[in-house]
Amino acid sequence: MEWGRCTDRELTELEAIVGSENLSTGESALRLASRDESYYTPHIPPQVVVMPGSAEEISAIMKIANPRRIPVTARAAGTSIEGNPVPLFGGIVVDVQRFDKIVEIRPEDFLAVVEAGVGYKDLNKALGQHGLFFPPDPGASAMIGGMIANNASGVRTIKYGATKDYVLKLTVVLADGQIIEIGSLATKSSSGYDLARLFVGSEGTLGIVTQASLRLAGIPSHFSSAIATFPTLEAAAQAVFQIVRWGFSPAALEILTSELVHMLNRDRGLGLREEHTLFLEFQGASEMALEEELGPVQDLCHEAGALSFEPGLGIDERNKLWEARYEAYESIKHTHPGADPFVADVAVPISRYPEMLQYAARVIDDYGVAGYPFGHAGDGNLHVVFMGDAQDKEGGEKIMKANEAIGSRALDLEGTCTGEHGVGIGKRPFMEREHGASLELMRQIKKLLDPQGILNPGKIFL
Ligand SMILES: Cc1cc2nc3c(=O)[nH]c(=O)nc-3n(C[C@H](O)[C@H](O)[C@H](O)COP(=O)(O)OP(=O)(O)OC[C@H]3O[C@@H](n4cnc5c(N)ncnc54)[C@H](O)[C@@H]3O)c2cc1C
Repeated sequence: MEWGRCTDRELTELEAIVGSENLSTGESALRLASRDESYYTPHIPPQVVVMPGSAEEISAIMKIANPRRIPVTARAAGTSIEGNPVPLFGGIVVDVQRFDKIVEIRPEDFLAVVEAGVGYKDLNKALGQHGLFFPPDPGASAMIGGMIANNASGVRTIKYGATKDYVLKLTVVLADGQIIEIGSLATKSSSGYDLARLFVGSEGTLGIVTQASLRLAGIPSHFSSAIATFPTLEAAAQAVFQIVRWGFSPAALEILTSELVHMLNRDRGLGLREEHTLFLEFQGASEMALEEELGPVQDLCHEAGALSFEPGLGIDERNKLWEARYEAYESIKHTHPGADPFVADVAVPISRYPEMLQYAARVIDDYGVAGYPFGHAGDGNLHVVFMGDAQDKEGGEKIMKANEAIGSRALDLEGTCTGEHGVGIGKRPFMEREHGASLELMRQIKKLLDPQGILNPGKIFL
């Protein structure tokens, strides 16, 4: 069936809903709404960007789009790296930036009610006053709606979990315009199907989230960071495996290659040893509790062949280290001016992490591409940032093949084709193999909730 288009009639109707100041058909707005941080570009650009201000306005938009089969793609901060918010078949982009209110912080219940366009960094600033924080932390300036839709996670997921672990209740607008509330404010529930979790990670293909009640965590009173260096990536990966295997619970456990450490030294003046490196962080209720963990972890690193282990970094050094880690992606980009990044993102069971890492390093060599592995090692999550020219057919194909090889090996190792960035456009070819017959069930769920297929069409499924 053909996709519907927004004619003057639809544009007038949309304008009546959101107001002329919240609707744009200008070239630059459409261009911005057509992209995320990935390689991917739209097949057919969107026709209009709307910025509704309430669930009722989104509902009214759906009632225009659904019967006429006009695609509707939700957009939050646009920081995805798999093409998740890139509209493929034109239509309407629903930008949630006006959903920017922190509705309520309830410190006594460890929860906050926020609108979908709230930036998680802004939320954490507000929560800090109450000694609380929202742990999922993708680093980029993502909004809560986008984090829920991608089930984002980050450096502290090893201890705290991903976005799915923090969603209590959602307000969602469905494709037919129905506004539903799902979940409850209780931190646990056995009441029927867990529909809130169904929407987490659905990448805007099942409904548009307008408001979320989120579970929070207390900011721990004591932190300690450490840096361990290793002669080989395998030794570093072995240390990761041993630390997790022996039941230690770092709040972060990140792996960086010597090449990446070199870039961070260059860009951030860190003065680190330029070796393969683990950044570790521990959090606890007292100095003593931290020391009890750090001592044996240091031993495990040395047993794995560590060249150095520097524990007990002060708060300033710690902050500098994590800021630099968040900038790793930017440092890679600076190293290849004019080139486009393409990020592979896989996750495997922790015992297979050394093998996965080794394989990724070999793929980079075999395909002769510029690629930089690093990742949230403690979760078995590996990224490889490939740098190439998106317009260069031959180079681009090599990168795609290298990415395919890495995704495929992750599945061989009983892992997943995407640890945290979502399926978007890039991971669709892996879905059949990863999910087998259950992919059909996902298709049926999509059909049930969005029979016309208008919500972010072309994503998740090929
Ligand atoms: C430098 C860099 C580092 C990153 N590091 C990480 C990381 O460590 N961990 C990680 O998980 N991710 C990471 N990401 C990816 C990205 O930041 C996350 O996936 C983030 O959650 C996307 O949020 P966003 O607000 O930008 O959403 P967008 O990119 O705007 O949208 C994401 C998806 O959500 C849908 N959507 C948006 N709003 C809604 C809504 N209200 N209701 C329903 N669907 C909606 C969109 O259609 C799209 O499919 C990184 C990205 C960059 C550029």
